[in-house]
Amino acid sequence: MKDVIIDCLAYNGKVSIKCISSREIVEKARKLHDLSPTASAALGRLLTITSIMGYELKTEEASITNQIKGNGPIGILTAVADSKGNVKGYVGDGKVDLPLRKSDGKLDVGGAVGKQGMLYIIKDLGIGKPYVGMTPIVSGEIAEDFTNYFATSEQTPTVIALGVLVDKNGIKSAGGYKLSLMPDAGEEEISKIEEQIKNIEPVSRMLDENKTLEEIAKIVTGDENLKVLERTEPKFECNCSREKCEKGLIAIGKKELEDIIKEEEKIQIECNFCNSKYVFTREELQEIVVKM
Ligand code: ZN
Repeated sequence: MKDVIIDCLAYNGKVSIKCISSREIVEKARKLHDLSPTASAALGRLLTITSIMGYELKTEEASITNQIKGNGPIGILTAVADSKGNVKGYVGDGKVDLPLRKSDGKLDVGGAVGKQGMLYIIKDLGIGKPYVGMTPIVSGEIAEDFTNYFATSEQTPTVIALGVLVDKNGIKSAGGYKLSLMPDAGEEEISKIEEQIKNIEPVSRMLDENKTLEEIAKIVTGDENLKVLERTEPKFECNCSREKCEKGLIAIGKKELEDIIKEEEKIQIECNFCNSKYVFTREELQEIVVKM
């Protein structure tokens, strides 16, 4: 089944909610990077929220980079999405796997990411300087860390839930939602949503029970008359290319490239996001230098 994002308005436009099913995206990341269950959940949650945030940018050439640098064993997590919600990502050490949490039997994402560190948000709208936001990590559980970012850095009351269910065959379900209160949301809507969220099931379980995204959006908001404005099908997608590698080589400078040519028969550039390999022979590097 294809992944989907739905964009909805509840309570006559006072509440915005976007829901995503991201099983395919997370499964592709798991296979590509050979991730442990804990690393699958950690990167999966980051890919899920990054896809939603990319989709929210709306402008064609915009992109978003979300990075978590915690003090846990997994190292740095990076995800990049475009405005269609297409996303890619990788982690420092995808083999890190921790025992299930004693308290609730869940994967210990916070333990892998770390409880201390920073969350970085880089929004590139394709015009001028990118916007860079950062907030400290709250718990390393990712949804909480992003909720805190929206509350403190963007001053938008937001509820974020992210979930990845892993079994022996891989990713069983994955997804999430991001609910934001519009400025005209009042006490009535807020208390209704608070009431709903208090008793809600984890989003990965709702997806695993085959609830549709629209049903999930109605459960979260408590609004039966919620309107779905738009649907899109995001993918795990990498846009790396030989041309981009060439630009990267040009960017390191003529002198440095000439030094490489002196020492190396050929060089190989590997894409961190999708593991594609690009080989440049000495002759090919010389051709690049000539053009500089
Ligand atoms: Zn790539």
